[in-house]
Amino acid sequence: MARRKKLYEGKAKILYEGTEPGTIVQYFKDDATAFNAEKKDVIDGKGVLNNRLSEFFMKGLTQLGIPNHFIKRLNMREQLVRAAEIIPLEIIVRNVAAGSIAKRLGIEEGTPLPRPIVEFSYKDDSLGDPLVPEEYIAAFGWASQQEMDEIVSMALRVNDYLSGVMYGVGIKLVDFKIEMGRVYEGDFPRLIVADEISPDSCRLWDIETGQKLDKDVFRRDLGNLADAYTEVARRLGVMPSNVTHTPTKPTLIN
Ligand code: UDP
Repeated sequence: MARRKKLYEGKAKILYEGTEPGTIVQYFKDDATAFNAEKKDVIDGKGVLNNRLSEFFMKGLTQLGIPNHFIKRLNMREQLVRAAEIIPLEIIVRNVAAGSIAKRLGIEEGTPLPRPIVEFSYKDDSLGDPLVPEEYIAAFGWASQQEMDEIVSMALRVNDYLSGVMYGVGIKLVDFKIEMGRVYEGDFPRLIVADEISPDSCRLWDIETGQKLDKDVFRRDLGNLADAYTEVARRLGVMPSNVTHTPTKPTLIN
């Protein structure tokens, strides 16, 4: 069988040419990186969990009519997605102060923000993904003003959805990062949520105990990252059953 073409390898995923034109296979690796890849490790099972969790969240978005790239899961580590022209921005939504905003503004971590804040970083590892104002985005042509309006409103819808889903399982959605891309219908571009939605790109705190269930466990050496992600998957009912137990007879994986 001909080897499929690798299109791109990032820190946590590899992208291969998809089975049909306009599709891509996303392979989720076990690699974890933080602080612009200064800290690195391999976390057994992380890729399997993120593949499942991103599938779960993207399907939820589809049910709410929020367009996204997910087509179908192919296997434990791979999913088929729509190819999109990625907008070079990390779109960050914050509900509670943590991480860079807490540091930059001297706000204590855990302080609720007056309202959800949407901010943008320019995707460039060599620059450390700098925070950019909307003025830069329009001036450099990374996205049009009309697209920016849509990006903000879609990001807030994703925030409402994710916050609600998490709240339902006793988890506070502190902040998250998404990426969006353009797909073309005829000559007309349309925005879709792309990349992934997983605990790698969210801050998730247990509502009762404040326990961190996201990549900060790795960034700040707070324990076992796979255990934290498994807990999120367990609460959401998306445990990859074939990973966590040994079946005594053949089971159908769907
Ligand atoms: N985030 C991400 N990728 C990045 C930067 C941030 O997924 O390259 C996520 C991060 O996990 C958090 C949110 O975006 O959920 C806000 O991150 P922040 O700006 O506080 O940066 P950090 O403290 O992670 O450097």
